[in-house]
Amino acid sequence: MSVSGGAVAGSRVVIVGGGVIGVCCAYFLAKRGAHVLLLDRERIAAGASSGNAGVIAPGHLPLVKPGGLWSLLKTVVRPSSPLYVAPRLDFELWKWLLMLARRFHEQTAEAAMRALAPLARESLRLYGELVAGEGIECGFRASGYYEVWRGSSGAREAEQQVAFARRHGFSAEVLEPAEMLRRAPRLRGGLTCAVHHRDAATLDPYAFVTGLAERAGAARAKFQVAKVTELLLAGDRVRGVRTEQGDEIGADAVVVAAGAWSADLLRPLGFSLPLQPAKGYHSDLVDERSPHPFIPEALLLAERLVFVTPMGDRVRLAGTLEFSGLDLRIREGRWRQLARAAAEYCQGVEGTRSISRWCGLRPCLPDGLPAIGPVAEIAGLYLATGHAMAGMTLGPVTGRLIADWCLAGSRPSQPPALDPARFGRKAEDQYFGTEGST
Ligand SMILES: Cc1cc2nc3c(=O)[nH]c(=O)nc-3n(C[C@H](O)[C@H](O)[C@H](O)COP(=O)(O)OP(=O)(O)OC[C@H]3O[C@@H](n4cnc5c(N)ncnc54)[C@H](O)[C@@H]3O)c2cc1C
Repeated sequence: MSVSGGAVAGSRVVIVGGGVIGVCCAYFLAKRGAHVLLLDRERIAAGASSGNAGVIAPGHLPLVKPGGLWSLLKTVVRPSSPLYVAPRLDFELWKWLLMLARRFHEQTAEAAMRALAPLARESLRLYGELVAGEGIECGFRASGYYEVWRGSSGAREAEQQVAFARRHGFSAEVLEPAEMLRRAPRLRGGLTCAVHHRDAATLDPYAFVTGLAERAGAARAKFQVAKVTELLLAGDRVRGVRTEQGDEIGADAVVVAAGAWSADLLRPLGFSLPLQPAKGYHSDLVDERSPHPFIPEALLLAERLVFVTPMGDRVRLAGTLEFSGLDLRIREGRWRQLARAAAEYCQGVEGTRSISRWCGLRPCLPDGLPAIGPVAEIAGLYLATGHAMAGMTLGPVTGRLIADWCLAGSRPSQPPALDPARFGRKAEDQYFGTEGST
Protein backbone atom coordinates (compact mmCIF):
# COMPACT_ATOMS: atom_id res chain seq x y z
CA MET A 1 0.00 0.00 0.00
CA SER A 2 2.77 2.46 0.80
CA VAL A 3 5.20 4.23 -1.47
CA SER A 4 8.35 5.75 0.12
CA GLY A 5 6.56 6.10 3.45
CA GLY A 6 3.56 7.79 1.84
CA ALA A 7 0.18 6.41 0.85
CA VAL A 8 -1.49 5.89 -2.51
CA ALA A 9 -4.96 6.69 -3.81
CA GLY A 10 -7.41 4.38 -2.06
CA SER A 11 -5.48 4.30 1.19
CA ARG A 12 -6.83 5.38 4.57
CA VAL A 13 -5.78 8.81 5.75
CA VAL A 14 -6.75 10.13 9.19
CA ILE A 15 -6.62 13.91 9.66
CA VAL A 16 -6.52 15.31 13.19
CA GLY A 17 -8.16 18.74 13.37
CA GLY A 18 -11.05 20.30 11.45
CA GLY A 19 -9.80 23.87 11.03
CA VAL A 20 -9.07 25.44 7.66
CA ILE A 21 -5.86 23.40 7.36
CA GLY A 22 -7.41 20.00 8.18
CA VAL A 23 -10.44 20.67 5.98
CA CYS A 24 -8.32 21.76 3.00
CA CYS A 25 -6.22 18.58 3.42
CA ALA A 26 -9.42 16.49 3.58
CA TYR A 27 -10.79 18.13 0.44
CA PHE A 28 -7.70 17.62 -1.76
CA LEU A 29 -7.05 14.09 -0.46
CA ALA A 30 -10.67 12.99 -0.94
CA LYS A 31 -10.77 14.51 -4.44
CA ARG A 32 -7.75 12.36 -5.33
CA GLY A 33 -9.32 9.14 -4.13
CA ALA A 34 -8.02 8.69 -0.59
CA HIS A 35 -10.36 7.30 2.10
CA VAL A 36 -10.33 10.29 4.43
CA LEU A 37 -11.49 10.36 8.03
CA LEU A 38 -11.23 13.77 9.71
CA LEU A 39 -11.44 13.80 13.50
CA ASP A 40 -12.15 16.95 15.49
CA ARG A 41 -12.71 16.96 19.22
CA GLU A 42 -15.53 19.54 18.84
CA ARG A 43 -16.74 20.21 15.30
CA ILE A 44 -15.59 21.65 11.98
CA ALA A 45 -14.06 25.13 12.45
CA ALA A 46 -14.08 24.98 16.23
CA GLY A 47 -10.70 26.73 16.59
CA ALA A 48 -8.98 29.76 15.09
CA SER A 49 -10.46 29.14 11.64
CA SER A 50 -14.00 30.25 12.41
CA GLY A 51 -13.63 33.78 13.75
CA ASN A 52 -10.51 35.19 12.16
CA ALA A 53 -10.35 38.37 10.08
CA GLY A 54 -11.01 36.51 6.83
CA VAL A 55 -8.32 38.30 4.87
CA ILE A 56 -6.43 36.29 2.23
CA ALA A 57 -3.32 38.42 2.31
CA PRO A 58 -0.39 36.88 0.43
CA GLY A 59 1.84 39.94 0.93
CA HIS A 60 1.08 40.36 4.64
CA LEU A 61 2.99 37.95 6.85
CA PRO A 62 3.46 40.10 9.93
CA LEU A 63 5.24 37.66 12.22
CA VAL A 64 8.41 38.06 10.20
CA LYS A 65 7.98 41.14 8.05
CA PRO A 66 9.57 44.51 8.90
CA GLY A 67 7.40 46.13 11.57
CA GLY A 68 6.15 42.68 12.65
CA LEU A 69 6.13 40.90 15.98
CA TRP A 70 9.69 41.81 16.91
CA SER A 71 8.99 45.55 16.73
CA LEU A 72 5.75 44.99 18.66
CA LEU A 73 7.73 43.48 21.53
CA LYS A 74 9.15 46.95 22.13
CA THR A 75 5.63 48.32 22.76
CA VAL A 76 4.47 45.56 25.12
CA VAL A 77 4.48 47.73 28.24
CA ARG A 78 1.93 50.18 26.77
CA PRO A 79 -1.72 49.36 27.61
CA SER A 80 -2.74 50.18 24.01
CA SER A 81 -0.15 47.80 22.51
CA PRO A 82 -1.62 45.10 20.25
CA LEU A 83 0.75 42.70 22.04
CA TYR A 84 0.22 41.24 25.51
CA VAL A 85 2.48 38.74 27.26
CA ALA A 86 0.83 37.26 30.38
CA PRO A 87 3.15 37.82 33.36
CA ARG A 88 3.94 34.24 34.42
CA LEU A 89 6.84 31.87 34.63
CA ASP A 90 6.55 30.05 31.35
CA PHE A 91 9.96 28.70 30.44
CA GLU A 92 8.79 27.45 27.01
CA LEU A 93 7.40 30.89 26.07
CA TRP A 94 10.56 32.76 27.06
CA LYS A 95 12.66 30.19 25.19
CA TRP A 96 10.40 30.71 22.17
CA LEU A 97 10.74 34.50 22.35
CA LEU A 98 14.50 34.08 22.54
CA MET A 99 14.44 31.83 19.46
CA LEU A 100 12.44 34.50 17.65
CA ALA A 101 14.87 37.21 18.74
CA ARG A 102 17.88 35.20 17.57
CA ARG A 103 16.42 34.64 14.15
CA PHE A 104 14.81 38.02 13.63
CA HIS A 105 16.55 40.30 11.18
CA GLU A 106 15.86 41.78 7.77
CA GLN A 107 17.42 38.88 5.81
CA THR A 108 15.34 36.32 7.69
CA ALA A 109 12.16 38.21 6.84
CA GLU A 110 13.20 38.33 3.19
CA ALA A 111 14.11 34.63 3.15
CA ALA A 112 10.85 33.66 4.87
CA MET A 113 8.86 35.71 2.40
CA ARG A 114 10.80 34.19 -0.52
CA ALA A 115 9.71 30.77 0.71
CA LEU A 116 6.08 31.75 1.34
CA ALA A 117 5.26 34.21 -1.44
CA PRO A 118 4.86 31.67 -4.28
CA LEU A 119 2.73 29.45 -2.05
CA ALA A 120 0.56 32.35 -0.88
CA ARG A 121 0.07 33.51 -4.48
CA GLU A 122 -0.95 30.00 -5.51
CA SER A 123 -3.32 29.81 -2.54
CA LEU A 124 -5.07 33.03 -3.60
CA ARG A 125 -5.51 31.53 -7.06
CA LEU A 126 -6.88 28.31 -5.57
CA TYR A 127 -9.42 30.30 -3.53
CA GLY A 128 -10.82 31.81 -6.71
CA GLU A 129 -11.01 28.33 -8.27
CA LEU A 130 -12.56 26.63 -5.22
CA VAL A 131 -15.13 29.31 -4.47
CA ALA A 132 -16.32 29.53 -8.07
CA GLY A 133 -15.85 25.85 -9.01
CA GLU A 134 -17.52 24.44 -5.90
CA GLY A 135 -20.07 27.26 -5.54
CA ILE A 136 -19.10 28.06 -1.93
CA GLU A 137 -21.09 31.02 -0.64
CA CYS A 138 -18.69 32.83 1.64
CA GLY A 139 -18.76 36.45 0.43
CA PHE A 140 -15.41 36.08 -1.38
CA ARG A 141 -14.23 39.45 -2.73
CA ALA A 142 -10.90 39.77 -4.52
CA SER A 143 -10.60 43.54 -4.24
CA GLY A 144 -7.69 43.70 -1.79
CA TYR A 145 -7.53 45.74 1.41
CA TYR A 146 -6.17 49.07 2.62
CA GLU A 147 -3.50 49.44 5.32
CA VAL A 148 -3.85 52.85 7.00
CA TRP A 149 -1.60 54.83 9.35
CA ARG A 150 -2.25 57.78 11.67
CA GLY A 151 1.20 58.02 13.25
CA SER A 152 4.11 60.25 12.20
CA SER A 153 6.08 57.31 10.77
CA GLY A 154 3.17 56.32 8.48
CA ALA A 155 4.72 57.51 5.21
CA ARG A 156 8.03 55.77 5.89
CA GLU A 157 6.35 52.51 6.95
CA ALA A 158 4.00 52.61 3.97
CA GLU A 159 6.98 52.97 1.58
CA GLN A 160 8.66 50.02 3.33
CA GLN A 161 5.56 47.83 3.04
CA VAL A 162 5.12 48.62 -0.63
CA ALA A 163 8.78 47.94 -1.38
CA PHE A 164 8.60 44.64 0.58
CA ALA A 165 5.41 43.53 -1.21
CA ARG A 166 6.73 44.50 -4.66
CA ARG A 167 10.09 42.77 -4.12
CA HIS A 168 8.09 39.57 -3.68
CA GLY A 169 5.93 40.15 -6.73
CA PHE A 170 2.75 41.57 -5.12
CA SER A 171 0.90 44.61 -6.30
CA ALA A 172 0.74 47.40 -3.70
CA GLU A 173 0.60 51.18 -4.00
CA VAL A 174 0.98 54.11 -1.63
CA LEU A 175 -2.06 56.39 -1.42
CA GLU A 176 -2.06 59.96 -0.17
CA PRO A 177 -4.49 60.59 2.74
CA ALA A 178 -6.88 62.62 0.53
CA GLU A 179 -7.16 59.77 -1.99
CA MET A 180 -7.66 57.23 0.80
CA LEU A 181 -10.45 59.34 2.33
CA ARG A 182 -12.10 59.60 -1.09
CA ARG A 183 -12.12 55.79 -1.36
CA ALA A 184 -13.17 55.16 2.26
CA PRO A 185 -15.18 58.17 3.45
CA ARG A 186 -15.90 56.54 6.84
CA LEU A 187 -12.22 56.96 7.83
CA ARG A 188 -11.47 59.89 10.11
CA GLY A 189 -9.24 62.76 9.00
CA GLY A 190 -5.70 62.80 10.36
CA LEU A 191 -4.39 59.83 8.36
CA THR A 192 -0.72 60.10 7.54
CA CYS A 193 -0.55 57.47 4.80
CA ALA A 194 -2.21 54.41 3.28
CA VAL A 195 -1.34 51.42 1.10
CA HIS A 196 -3.66 49.53 -1.20
CA HIS A 197 -2.69 45.83 -1.15
CA ARG A 198 -4.38 44.71 -4.37
CA ASP A 199 -3.35 41.04 -4.43
CA ALA A 200 -5.62 40.04 -1.59
CA ALA A 201 -9.19 38.97 -0.92
CA THR A 202 -11.70 38.80 1.92
CA LEU A 203 -14.32 36.22 2.88
CA ASP A 204 -16.33 34.86 5.79
CA PRO A 205 -13.92 32.20 7.12
CA TYR A 206 -16.57 30.08 8.87
CA ALA A 207 -18.71 29.95 5.71
CA PHE A 208 -15.66 28.98 3.63
CA VAL A 209 -14.39 26.23 5.96
CA THR A 210 -17.80 24.63 6.54
CA GLY A 211 -18.66 25.00 2.83
CA LEU A 212 -15.43 23.25 1.78
CA ALA A 213 -16.01 20.53 4.41
CA GLU A 214 -19.39 19.85 2.77
CA ARG A 215 -17.71 19.55 -0.64
CA ALA A 216 -15.08 17.19 0.84
CA GLY A 217 -17.99 15.16 2.28
CA ALA A 218 -19.51 14.99 -1.20
CA ALA A 219 -16.16 13.55 -2.35
CA ARG A 220 -16.65 10.87 0.37
CA ALA A 221 -14.45 12.30 3.15
CA LYS A 222 -15.91 11.32 6.53
CA PHE A 223 -16.04 13.47 9.67
CA GLN A 224 -16.27 12.34 13.27
CA VAL A 225 -16.29 14.17 16.59
CA ALA A 226 -13.49 12.57 18.61
CA LYS A 227 -10.49 13.82 20.53
CA VAL A 228 -7.28 12.12 19.48
CA THR A 229 -5.12 11.33 22.50
CA GLU A 230 -2.33 9.30 20.92
CA LEU A 231 -0.62 8.68 17.62
CA LEU A 232 -0.04 4.93 17.24
CA LEU A 233 3.17 3.53 15.78
CA ALA A 234 4.34 0.15 14.57
CA GLY A 235 8.12 0.46 14.68
CA ASP A 236 9.05 3.58 12.74
CA ARG A 237 5.74 3.82 10.88
CA VAL A 238 2.42 5.31 11.92
CA ARG A 239 -0.44 2.82 12.14
CA GLY A 240 -3.31 5.01 13.32
CA VAL A 241 -4.62 7.03 16.26
CA ARG A 242 -6.29 6.39 19.60
CA THR A 243 -9.25 8.53 20.66
CA GLU A 244 -10.33 9.68 24.11
CA GLN A 245 -12.97 6.94 24.10
CA GLY A 246 -10.14 4.41 23.76
CA ASP A 247 -10.97 3.47 20.15
CA GLU A 248 -8.06 2.63 17.87
CA ILE A 249 -8.50 3.86 14.31
CA GLY A 250 -6.14 2.33 11.77
CA ALA A 251 -4.57 4.40 8.97
CA ASP A 252 -1.91 4.24 6.27
CA ALA A 253 -1.16 7.93 6.86
CA VAL A 254 -1.97 10.45 9.61
CA VAL A 255 -1.96 14.24 9.13
CA VAL A 256 -1.62 16.32 12.31
CA ALA A 257 -3.47 19.60 11.65
CA ALA A 258 -4.59 20.34 15.21
CA GLY A 259 -3.59 24.02 15.18
CA ALA A 260 -2.18 25.31 18.48
CA TRP A 261 -2.70 21.87 20.07
CA SER A 262 -0.52 19.98 17.57
CA ALA A 263 2.62 19.95 19.74
CA ASP A 264 0.85 17.98 22.50
CA LEU A 265 0.25 15.06 20.14
CA LEU A 266 3.84 14.96 18.94
CA ARG A 267 5.61 15.29 22.30
CA PRO A 268 5.17 11.63 23.35
CA LEU A 269 6.98 10.63 20.11
CA GLY A 270 10.01 12.68 21.16
CA PHE A 271 9.25 15.32 18.51
CA SER A 272 9.41 18.71 20.13
CA LEU A 273 7.62 21.36 18.09
CA PRO A 274 8.19 24.84 19.58
CA LEU A 275 4.62 25.97 18.95
CA GLN A 276 3.22 28.95 20.88
CA PRO A 277 -0.46 29.88 20.82
CA ALA A 278 -0.95 33.59 20.08
CA LYS A 279 -4.47 34.58 21.06
CA GLY A 280 -6.47 37.02 18.99
CA TYR A 281 -9.98 38.43 19.42
CA HIS A 282 -12.86 39.48 17.25
CA SER A 283 -15.90 41.65 17.73
CA ASP A 284 -18.61 41.71 15.05
CA LEU A 285 -20.42 45.03 14.80
CA VAL A 286 -23.78 45.78 13.22
CA ASP A 287 -25.40 49.12 12.63
CA GLU A 288 -29.06 48.42 13.25
CA ARG A 289 -30.10 51.40 11.16
CA SER A 290 -28.72 49.79 8.01
CA PRO A 291 -28.68 46.26 6.49
CA HIS A 292 -25.23 46.96 5.01
CA PRO A 293 -21.84 46.90 6.74
CA PHE A 294 -21.23 50.41 8.01
CA ILE A 295 -17.64 50.26 6.68
CA PRO A 296 -17.67 48.68 3.20
CA GLU A 297 -13.87 48.57 2.62
CA ALA A 298 -11.47 46.05 4.20
CA LEU A 299 -8.89 47.91 6.30
CA LEU A 300 -5.84 47.12 8.37
CA LEU A 301 -5.35 49.71 11.13
CA ALA A 302 -1.58 49.61 11.02
CA GLU A 303 -0.58 50.94 14.45
CA ARG A 304 -3.19 48.80 16.25
CA LEU A 305 -2.80 45.65 14.10
CA VAL A 306 -6.59 45.38 13.81
CA PHE A 307 -8.31 44.20 10.65
CA VAL A 308 -11.70 45.70 9.78
CA THR A 309 -13.49 43.32 7.42
CA PRO A 310 -17.00 43.75 6.04
CA MET A 311 -18.81 40.35 6.21
CA GLY A 312 -22.41 40.24 5.04
CA ASP A 313 -24.35 42.73 7.17
CA ARG A 314 -21.57 42.92 9.81
CA VAL A 315 -18.17 44.50 10.17
CA ARG A 316 -15.62 42.25 11.86
CA LEU A 317 -12.89 43.81 13.97
CA ALA A 318 -10.13 41.23 14.54
CA GLY A 319 -6.66 41.38 15.95
CA THR A 320 -4.38 41.69 18.98
CA LEU A 321 -1.70 39.20 19.98
CA GLU A 322 -1.74 37.68 23.41
CA PHE A 323 0.76 35.13 24.68
CA SER A 324 -0.98 33.41 27.57
CA GLY A 325 -0.66 29.72 26.70
CA LEU A 326 -3.46 27.35 25.64
CA ASP A 327 -6.02 29.54 27.34
CA LEU A 328 -9.26 30.55 25.66
CA ARG A 329 -10.50 33.02 28.30
CA ILE A 330 -11.57 36.40 26.97
CA ARG A 331 -9.79 39.28 28.69
CA GLU A 332 -12.39 42.01 28.63
CA GLY A 333 -9.86 44.83 28.38
CA ARG A 334 -8.06 43.26 25.42
CA TRP A 335 -11.34 42.61 23.61
CA ARG A 336 -12.49 46.21 24.16
CA GLN A 337 -9.28 47.43 22.52
CA LEU A 338 -10.71 46.38 19.16
CA ALA A 339 -13.62 48.84 19.28
CA ARG A 340 -11.37 51.56 20.71
CA ALA A 341 -8.93 51.08 17.81
CA ALA A 342 -11.75 51.13 15.26
CA ALA A 343 -13.25 54.31 16.77
CA GLU A 344 -9.82 55.97 16.62
CA TYR A 345 -9.65 55.44 12.83
CA CYS A 346 -13.30 55.28 11.69
CA GLN A 347 -16.48 57.26 12.16
CA GLY A 348 -19.76 55.62 13.14
CA VAL A 349 -18.40 52.91 15.47
CA GLU A 350 -20.18 54.50 18.45
CA GLY A 351 -23.65 53.88 16.96
CA THR A 352 -23.07 50.14 16.44
CA ARG A 353 -23.71 47.02 18.53
CA SER A 354 -21.36 44.07 18.98
CA ILE A 355 -23.13 40.78 18.18
CA SER A 356 -20.17 38.44 18.65
CA ARG A 357 -17.28 38.15 21.10
CA TRP A 358 -14.73 35.55 20.17
CA CYS A 359 -11.11 34.55 20.66
CA GLY A 360 -8.90 31.99 18.92
CA LEU A 361 -5.35 30.71 19.10
CA ARG A 362 -2.93 31.18 16.22
CA PRO A 363 -0.36 28.36 16.07
CA CYS A 364 3.04 30.13 15.86
CA LEU A 365 6.52 28.75 15.25
CA PRO A 366 9.48 30.98 16.11
CA ASP A 367 10.69 31.45 12.53
CA GLY A 368 7.29 32.65 11.34
CA LEU A 369 6.97 29.74 8.91
CA PRO A 370 4.56 26.81 9.04
CA ALA A 371 5.70 23.17 9.21
CA ILE A 372 4.24 21.29 6.23
CA GLY A 373 5.31 17.81 5.16
CA PRO A 374 6.37 14.40 6.42
CA VAL A 375 7.98 13.75 9.78
CA ALA A 376 11.28 12.26 8.67
CA GLU A 377 11.65 9.74 11.48
CA ILE A 378 8.11 8.29 11.26
CA ALA A 379 6.85 6.96 7.92
CA GLY A 380 3.27 7.93 7.09
CA LEU A 381 3.11 10.83 9.59
CA TYR A 382 2.60 14.35 8.21
CA LEU A 383 2.46 17.79 9.83
CA ALA A 384 0.43 20.77 8.65
CA THR A 385 0.56 23.41 11.34
CA GLY A 386 2.26 26.59 12.56
CA HIS A 387 0.47 28.91 10.11
CA ALA A 388 0.36 31.76 12.65
CA MET A 389 -1.35 34.83 11.12
CA ALA A 390 -1.59 33.25 7.67
CA GLY A 391 -3.61 30.06 8.11
CA MET A 392 -6.56 31.26 6.03
CA THR A 393 -4.20 32.62 3.39
CA LEU A 394 -2.20 29.40 3.11
CA GLY A 395 -5.02 26.87 3.72
CA PRO A 396 -5.74 25.68 0.16
CA VAL A 397 -2.09 25.44 -0.90
CA THR A 398 -1.27 23.54 2.30
CA GLY A 399 -4.07 21.06 1.59
CA ARG A 400 -2.80 20.49 -1.91
CA LEU A 401 0.81 20.05 -0.77
CA ILE A 402 -0.22 17.51 1.86
CA ALA A 403 -2.23 15.60 -0.76
CA ASP A 404 0.87 15.63 -3.01
CA TRP A 405 3.05 14.29 -0.19
CA CYS A 406 0.60 11.66 0.99
CA LEU A 407 -0.50 10.35 -2.36
CA ALA A 408 2.44 10.82 -4.69
CA GLY A 409 4.84 9.36 -2.15
CA SER A 410 7.49 11.63 -3.63
CA ARG A 411 8.66 15.12 -2.69
CA PRO A 412 6.52 17.82 -4.29
CA SER A 413 8.32 21.07 -5.11
CA GLN A 414 8.12 22.81 -1.77
CA PRO A 415 10.62 25.09 -0.04
CA PRO A 416 12.86 23.15 2.35
CA ALA A 417 12.31 26.04 4.80
CA LEU A 418 8.89 24.55 5.64
CA ASP A 419 10.24 21.07 6.34
CA PRO A 420 9.12 19.88 9.81
CA ALA A 421 12.57 18.25 10.13
CA ARG A 422 13.93 21.65 11.18
CA PHE A 423 12.26 20.92 14.53
CA GLY A 424 12.89 17.16 14.54
CA ARG A 425 14.18 15.07 17.41
CA LYS A 426 17.75 16.26 16.90
CA ALA A 427 17.41 19.45 14.90
CA GLU A 428 16.20 22.06 17.35
CA ASP A 429 19.47 23.24 18.88
CA GLN A 430 21.47 23.37 15.70
CA TYR A 431 18.59 25.05 13.84
CA PHE A 432 18.17 27.86 16.29
CA GLY A 433 21.88 28.17 16.93
CA THR A 434 22.51 29.12 13.29
CA GLU A 435 21.08 31.60 10.84
CA GLY A 436 20.09 31.61 7.24
CA SER A 437 18.68 28.11 6.98
CA THR A 438 15.61 29.55 5.33
C1 LIG B 1 -8.03 37.18 15.59
C2 LIG B 1 -7.41 36.39 14.47
C3 LIG B 1 -7.42 36.92 13.18
C4 LIG B 1 -6.83 36.21 12.13
N1 LIG B 1 -6.93 36.69 10.87
C5 LIG B 1 -6.41 35.99 9.83
C6 LIG B 1 -6.54 36.47 8.50
O1 LIG B 1 -7.18 37.50 8.24
N2 LIG B 1 -5.95 35.77 7.50
C7 LIG B 1 -5.24 34.62 7.74
O2 LIG B 1 -4.69 34.05 6.79
N3 LIG B 1 -5.15 34.11 8.99
C8 LIG B 1 -5.71 34.76 10.04
N4 LIG B 1 -5.61 34.28 11.31
C9 LIG B 1 -4.87 33.03 11.53
C10 LIG B 1 -5.71 31.81 11.21
O3 LIG B 1 -6.97 31.93 11.83
C11 LIG B 1 -4.99 30.55 11.69
O4 LIG B 1 -3.67 30.51 11.18
C12 LIG B 1 -5.72 29.30 11.20
O5 LIG B 1 -7.08 29.36 11.54
C13 LIG B 1 -5.11 28.03 11.79
O6 LIG B 1 -5.86 26.96 11.30
P1 LIG B 1 -5.66 25.48 11.84
O7 LIG B 1 -6.56 24.62 11.04
O8 LIG B 1 -4.19 25.18 11.87
O9 LIG B 1 -6.11 25.55 13.39
P2 LIG B 1 -7.55 25.67 14.05
O10 LIG B 1 -8.50 26.42 13.20
O11 LIG B 1 -7.34 26.16 15.44
O12 LIG B 1 -8.08 24.17 14.06
C14 LIG B 1 -7.52 23.19 14.88
C15 LIG B 1 -8.63 22.17 15.15
O13 LIG B 1 -8.03 21.03 15.79
C16 LIG B 1 -8.95 20.52 16.74
N5 LIG B 1 -8.18 19.73 17.69
C17 LIG B 1 -7.20 20.16 18.52
N6 LIG B 1 -6.70 19.12 19.22
C18 LIG B 1 -7.37 18.02 18.80
C19 LIG B 1 -7.29 16.62 19.15
N7 LIG B 1 -6.42 16.19 20.07
N8 LIG B 1 -8.14 15.76 18.54
C20 LIG B 1 -9.03 16.19 17.62
N9 LIG B 1 -9.14 17.49 17.25
C21 LIG B 1 -8.32 18.39 17.83
C22 LIG B 1 -9.60 21.77 17.32
O14 LIG B 1 -10.87 21.49 17.90
C23 LIG B 1 -9.71 22.69 16.11
O15 LIG B 1 -10.97 22.58 15.47
C24 LIG B 1 -6.20 34.95 12.38
C25 LIG B 1 -6.22 34.41 13.66
C26 LIG B 1 -6.82 35.10 14.71
C27 LIG B 1 -6.86 34.49 16.09
